Amino acid sequence: MQLKVKEELFDEPTCEHNIQKKEKKACKTAVPGSSTGGCALDGAYIVLSPIRDALHVVHGPINCLGNSYNQRTSESKGNETFYMYGMTSSINENDLIFGSEDKLKKGIVYAVNKFNPKGVFIYNTCVPALTGEDIGGVARELTEKLNIPVVPVQSQGFSGGKNLGNKIAGDALFEYVIGKKEPNIDILTDYNINLIGEYNIKGELFLIKKALSDNGINLLSNITGNATMEEIMYSHKAGLNVVVCSKALVYLARKMEEKYGIPFIEESFFGLSSTNNAMLHIAESFKDAKLIEKVKKNIESKTKIIRKEIEPYKKFLTGKRVLLYTGGVKSWSLISALNDLGMKVIATGVKKSTEEDKNRIKEFDANGNIIMLDNGNPVNLIKMIKDEQADILLAGGRNQYTAIKSLIPFLDVNQERSNSYTSYEGIVHLGRQIYLELNSPVYDVIRKAN
Ligand code: SF4
Repeated sequence: MQLKVKEELFDEPTCEHNIQKKEKKACKTAVPGSSTGGCALDGAYIVLSPIRDALHVVHGPINCLGNSYNQRTSESKGNETFYMYGMTSSINENDLIFGSEDKLKKGIVYAVNKFNPKGVFIYNTCVPALTGEDIGGVARELTEKLNIPVVPVQSQGFSGGKNLGNKIAGDALFEYVIGKKEPNIDILTDYNINLIGEYNIKGELFLIKKALSDNGINLLSNITGNATMEEIMYSHKAGLNVVVCSKALVYLARKMEEKYGIPFIEESFFGLSSTNNAMLHIAESFKDAKLIEKVKKNIESKTKIIRKEIEPYKKFLTGKRVLLYTGGVKSWSLISALNDLGMKVIATGVKKSTEEDKNRIKEFDANGNIIMLDNGNPVNLIKMIKDEQADILLAGGRNQYTAIKSLIPFLDVNQERSNSYTSYEGIVHLGRQIYLELNSPVYDVIRKAN
């Protein structure tokens, strides 16, 4: 039984905080009295559950699944939607005393016979981890018996937070899935890439894939929105890994570089400028003059089209003041998109941001005016909205009432968002949604009522 989380996950050399500090920490640790934003199970489930032809079985009390299930609006195309089922061994007091490995095995065999998936992920949780259940052994036995990959994910919540869970999931893919199959020769082109950390929220992957394909770049595997087990198995054949908005999964990109020699870059597809930059950086990574030329031409024509499409929104939005309170990479990538729309970001949340994220914020903040908000509790946000005269709050769903209390419009830009905001079409959607929010008559009504 291997329970201890690998030392390597705490020591990621590409994480800025490990370069700067002597005391190495995987990510921020929990602070008493402050919300942690999910346990390791949560983080692992977020990364792996969009794999659409696999079953995802949480081995633990039913509430562990309740905590993680269906938190993101990842979309999928294809017949397999097993990932939408929440599966758990739902262990109880009896299982604690007599053990629940057999129950887990029987449950998985039943589910595999019923759904015929291409793989199974077993997520460990605190209780079976503490009682010493061997999910690695169960996974080995079932892999042989069922003839599909059955992957143990050591995601017991007491190991750490959501960010660590992301890394544990990346490690599970690296150990048990990637490199286990070769692709058919006819799906390979001269320019094959993987996206890592794109979860296809509201179909955003489809927009990025379209832009890549217009530029002659082949998306071999996406890790993991809308992914199949097979495409992840042969992802080691890509010529480049593009890490999208997920610092935690840089670990996986680095491991793939070490083992398969695949270089990686980190890019964002939020906004016109960022999408253009991402396309150009991908082309430049292949060091092919023809491809670079083609991408530059496409960027030129696409920029003209999109600028025309966002023009009516930009006219209205220019100079409007935004308070952005979201996590990690979005703390800077959305600033770029909002700059494209002419808006002025007055503050951005950096609670979950790395040092590198903060440096990127500075890159987009020519005058050094953007406030970096470390503590975004509702009281602070309401004060900031008032003091800085924000016109709109862009944040996660839980902050909707913060905006309503401040009598200003709100747009959800986190995982529960109801629109796709990446790539070329995404910036048009974002402009339109903010425009609609700012012009909604609802806010006049509530302002008058107060
Ligand atoms: S912290 Fe442990 S018990 Fe709580 S949801 Fe996470 S895995 Fe389950």
